[in-house]
Amino acid sequence: MSPDGPSSTTFSPETDPHNLSTLLKQQFGHDEFRPMQRQIIDDAIGNRDLMVIMPTGGGKSLCYQLPAIAQKGTTIVISPLIALMQDQVHALRANGVSATAINSSMDARSNYESEQDALDGHYDLVYMAPERLMSAAGRRLLEKLDVGHFAIDEAHCISEWGHDFRPEYRMLNELRTRFDGRFKDTPIIALTATATPRVADDIVEQLHLHDAQIYRAGFERDNLFYDVRPKQNTTQNIIRYLKENPNHEGIIYRQSRNGVESLAATLQSKGIDALPYHAGLDHKTRKHNQHEFVYGDTRVIVATIAFGMGIDKPDVRFVIHADMPRHLEGYYQETGRAGRDGLPADCILFFSVADRFKIEHFIDQKENEAERDHARWQLDQVVRFAYTTGCRCIPLLKYFGEQHPGECGHCDNCRFPPQTEDATEDAQKFLSAVARVQQRFGLNYVIDILRGTANERITSYRHDELSVFGIGAEKNAAHWRRVAETLMNAGQLTATTDQYPTLHLTDTSLPVMRGEVEIEMALPRVMPKAKKAKKTRAEIDIDLPIDEILFDKLRDLRKQMAGEQGVPPYIIFGDLSLRQMSAEKPTNNDQFAQITGVGAHKLAKYGPAFIGAIANHVE
Ligand code: ADP
Ligand code: ZN
Repeated sequence: MSPDGPSSTTFSPETDPHNLSTLLKQQFGHDEFRPMQRQIIDDAIGNRDLMVIMPTGGGKSLCYQLPAIAQKGTTIVISPLIALMQDQVHALRANGVSATAINSSMDARSNYESEQDALDGHYDLVYMAPERLMSAAGRRLLEKLDVGHFAIDEAHCISEWGHDFRPEYRMLNELRTRFDGRFKDTPIIALTATATPRVADDIVEQLHLHDAQIYRAGFERDNLFYDVRPKQNTTQNIIRYLKENPNHEGIIYRQSRNGVESLAATLQSKGIDALPYHAGLDHKTRKHNQHEFVYGDTRVIVATIAFGMGIDKPDVRFVIHADMPRHLEGYYQETGRAGRDGLPADCILFFSVADRFKIEHFIDQKENEAERDHARWQLDQVVRFAYTTGCRCIPLLKYFGEQHPGECGHCDNCRFPPQTEDATEDAQKFLSAVARVQQRFGLNYVIDILRGTANERITSYRHDELSVFGIGAEKNAAHWRRVAETLMNAGQLTATTDQYPTLHLTDTSLPVMRGEVEIEMALPRVMPKAKKAKKTRAEIDIDLPIDEILFDKLRDLRKQMAGEQGVPPYIIFGDLSLRQMSAEKPTNNDQFAQITGVGAHKLAKYGPAFIGAIANHVE
């Protein structure tokens, strides 16, 4: 059930006994609740068990953090990744919320002190890894702690049906039964960004949730701009993007470690601050490179899919897939790392038939037939997503069982509708050529025939004597490649997946050759340079033009303060806050407090420095 309701409401004191709206501004500096947050928080305060399925960046953390502050008792937050715990604790403390993390990366003494402080009721939130919670040390703490709530983050890790099952999470199924039943009625909030209905049911069952209210937000991320481009001159394309967007930081995914290394090296040679990340690098290098990306000057991380789970950087402005992904689930997750702060971000996929063949070849090596079929099905979905001339949200969200009506307004096809041309005759020519060479040759060979290129191989087979030889000479090779791709995409042409793929006709080729079917082909897209995204909710708040020079100055200030305090810059203020400051130029406390992200704590702590910088600039 997904309760609908106003996306944001101002509550008067009578209807808002916990003063949640005030707390939201005071502690977090936000002016209004995001969709569903309010209802979820009300339910949490009413001690209901909850299951929250919300896409990345939707604002899940607030759903348990605000109740933790508003109520007495401590909320125990279970999280799988120690690095993320630390980040969350930093972010909470920056807002003046008392929180700590107890985990194996801390020394025993500091963990002991945290435990003692927790028992003295010092913390609203305590972050723990599941194995610690269920250990002897965890028992020692939990036996005496006044626990108000459990929040289980990344709850899909508990389910074997999910893509990220973790055995240590499975232990949580005893949370309600162990500890002499102390927690049999302690409310639990389970949260995740990815759960098919089957996984969601499994989570409810494993955690023994009672009469859980399930909140499922749509998967659409309306601040992400999806853009699929042909994989040609990919490196130059990427460099151009980086030069055109000098302030953008982001991730470039590649399939292979070699691909990662070589692209990172090329970018570095062009003066772009890029670092590689893949599982073949030693632990220290990986940690260093990730740290540089989150805290430091590194703009671009070139990575295999090994990168991402452990980062929470909200201001990732682009995610580029330089190679084709194997399934849409991964693609959705990887692109989902962009724009968590709600500001527009680009998701660019470079797509080629060659990549598709490579993956098909790889799939064919799989021994298990069911696995093979599943992998093929997954690949088909990616191909469909890449080739569609309609709204990309339709195939993307369909993968998650969501029916999108189309016209999302934030994909390339919606914003710059593709032009099509009639390619019926060319399709006939192409298929005839495939037939004439007995379906024994590959793409380039067939194109050479059509274009009348009498190379040695062709003459040796006497294919230069075929009636189809040279019938397509007036069109270039790229055109014929698009004809072939269009036919393949529609299943009217297919290719083997071995090392030297050969082209073959299918059941549906004949009607095309007979002229019974018309073929419409998308023309290559000419991307207008300046593109302006549909305004996102976050942006609409800023009506004034942004003073870019001031924005750069504030970025520098933020960076300097982050360095001094040993936290990532976004912990001080997000980009949205800085943009708003650069537009509205607040020069006193009252004005500064109006900026999104400025709560009471940050006003006191950072207000003077930022107001000073703004006042200086205004003069
Ligand atoms: P999730 O865990 O769902 O991926 P987060 O809890 O990390 O998302 O929130 C994503 C971003 O949205 C954070 O930068 C957070 O500060 C911001 N955010 C959350 N709730 C609100 C709100 N009500 N108004 C403005 N920003 C919000
Ligand atoms: Zn669209």
